[in-house]
Amino acid sequence: MKRRHFVSSTAIGAASAAALGACSRTATRSGVQTNAQPRIRWRMATSWPKSLETIFGGADTVCRRVSEMTGGRFTITPFAAGEIVPGLQVLDAVQSGTLECGHTASYYYIGKNPALGFGTAVPFGLNAQQQNAWLYHAGGLEAMQKLYSDFGVINFPAGNTGTQMGGWFKREIKSVTDLNGLKMRIPGLGGEVMSRLGVNVQVLPGGEIYLALDRGAIDAAEWVGPHDDVKLGLNKAAQFYYYPGWWEPGATLEIQINLSKWQQLPKDYQQVLKSATMEANLNMLAQYDALNAQALTALVAGGTKLTPYSKEIMQAAEKASFDLYEANAAKDATFKQVYEQWKKFREQVYKWNQVNELSFANFAYPQEKS
Ligand code: CA
Repeated sequence: MKRRHFVSSTAIGAASAAALGACSRTATRSGVQTNAQPRIRWRMATSWPKSLETIFGGADTVCRRVSEMTGGRFTITPFAAGEIVPGLQVLDAVQSGTLECGHTASYYYIGKNPALGFGTAVPFGLNAQQQNAWLYHAGGLEAMQKLYSDFGVINFPAGNTGTQMGGWFKREIKSVTDLNGLKMRIPGLGGEVMSRLGVNVQVLPGGEIYLALDRGAIDAAEWVGPHDDVKLGLNKAAQFYYYPGWWEPGATLEIQINLSKWQQLPKDYQQVLKSATMEANLNMLAQYDALNAQALTALVAGGTKLTPYSKEIMQAAEKASFDLYEANAAKDATFKQVYEQWKKFREQVYKWNQVNELSFANFAYPQEKS
């Protein structure tokens, strides 16, 4: 159902493009310059290095499709992390209007508002399919846009990684005790949960992880999954590759747009931009699933030790996650409002997916041998 919805949205995007093109051609033939579309040039900050064609690709898809669908009249140029602003300061740059828009992850900004974590992913939260259901059809995007309006920003989902991996470790981690004092790169509420389990949490942009891990400045690091992690070289810096990434079961990336710049856009450009973000959301997930499957096989063949988190760690992490949400909800009315609505949706969709998705997966997927 979701896929069909996305496909039809993309088709609508293509149709708007055709309509814009037709409008322009008619005007040219008749020699009457009415309803002319303005030329608009925007810049987009991102949190990513250009070497990651997957996640930077989300930004690229939006920019390329907006230009294609407006006949080159509305163009957005994406910039890698650090080219104009640092990777973790995209929201600040968009809020101040230094750049018109950005492609980033909302959970980099939980220091400004902890409820922003729900826009990307939270530990033991929603997978990609569920996250899209929540955002597009169960009030999630409205809740996030309400949070962002405080910053003079509007956001749209524009990519998803699927369920991530649980990170690279230089040594085996069997129990919660083994986590104590470990220096690990992990952002978002996942980082806060790890901190509650004794981890010394570090937040670094993607492009800085390899050197920190390789030189021993950190003992462990998570990024996304096999394809990206190999591109960053993380398999050369650590041997043990843990799964699953319980803190990011379906991480959404998003476009953030300066609200006043958004409001100044012609209505049809707004629709083109929205369609382009939906296309990026679908395309990134499909790309990740295809590439990660291949990359994981190559990693294991190359000697990486694929290791599941122990049940003890998973259970402790799950408890710490919900303790954290309850604590946040008790002291922050905004967090409480988003959390309670999200939690209700999670309970419902888990029940549904237990019946349809899980029963199928349990039967059909190859069983893990440990
Ligand atoms: Ca991650």
